[in-house]
Amino acid sequence: MERVGFVGLGIMGAPMARNALKAGFPVTVTNRTADRAKPFGDAGATVVPTPREVAERSDIVVTMVTNTPDVEAVTFGKDGIASGAHAGLLAVDMSTISPAASREFAQRAAANHPPFRTLDAPVSGGEVGAIEARLAIMVGGDAADVQRAMPLFEALGKTIVHIGDHGAGQACKLANQIAVAINNLGVSEALVFAKAQGIDLERTRSVIAGGAGSSWAMQNYAPKMLAGDFRPGFMVDLQQKDLRLVLDNAYADHLSLPGTSLVHSLYSALQKDGGGRDGNHALLKVIERLSGIEARQR
Ligand code: NAP
Repeated sequence: MERVGFVGLGIMGAPMARNALKAGFPVTVTNRTADRAKPFGDAGATVVPTPREVAERSDIVVTMVTNTPDVEAVTFGKDGIASGAHAGLLAVDMSTISPAASREFAQRAAANHPPFRTLDAPVSGGEVGAIEARLAIMVGGDAADVQRAMPLFEALGKTIVHIGDHGAGQACKLANQIAVAINNLGVSEALVFAKAQGIDLERTRSVIAGGAGSSWAMQNYAPKMLAGDFRPGFMVDLQQKDLRLVLDNAYADHLSLPGTSLVHSLYSALQKDGGGRDGNHALLKVIERLSGIEARQR
């Protein structure tokens, strides 16, 4: 079995590393905030202080950190993966970052001494998908590397699709984020409208979730919205990071994405009010504020 490493044990990385352990892979982990890595020692993983040591002890290293500069830092920075690279190392970035940066990182890895291989393999399915190993995984890179990583992907997710060359996985993930964000707006508006109509919110939610108005957001976020539980899942700050990536790419290609632009702007209001670390379903609060109606199940 390939030896697997994880760099980044946050909301997503931690359950993914646990699922790799459960599937029987020998696992080595590190996390910038060392305390978060400690429990993995008891769970059977080897805990090391740096990404370099993770790379030295692994055949496949997964990075699951925040944004493009963070992937660059843990891969090519001091004590990064590149400094611990060895023949046959495959670095799989499962964070959501810039597609252009993913392509550039693949070239830098190929020019490293020794060279190593890379895949971009961002995920969708949220914290619950990570915990239950039901993630959708969108992969960019060479087919042989995708094949090699497949047993690991199958331990982490259910829908695994090789989209194309380096960067294609990230491009697909950004397309996914457009749909996620606009679905969230649809759910928020539907619940505020239903509240204004005076109909039962939970009955409304459950029947919509069984019909053509359903979505992942309606099934997973609407119950949390109605309960007033805005803990993350997926933080507003990260949603905004992804929509910024979408809009930067859209700007470069002269695309008009009015829905994405609108939702990005609405999320800015949440960030301005200190809600950046709320879950992205807190979009409901903005729509509630605009209409002066609270759509919560009491
Ligand atoms: P998170 O809980 O904030 O975790 C981020 C992790 O990255 C933490 O372990 C953090 O270390 C580490 N990190 C960040 N910057 C770093 C740096 N410069 N050097 C070293 N470590 C660094 O975020 P998350 O929700 O797991 O998201 C991780 C990635 O998955 C993001 O790209 C996100 O967009 C994507 N994603 C998230 C979800 C979701 O539902 N949450 C779903 C799909 C995709 P510390 O512990 O030291 O802070």
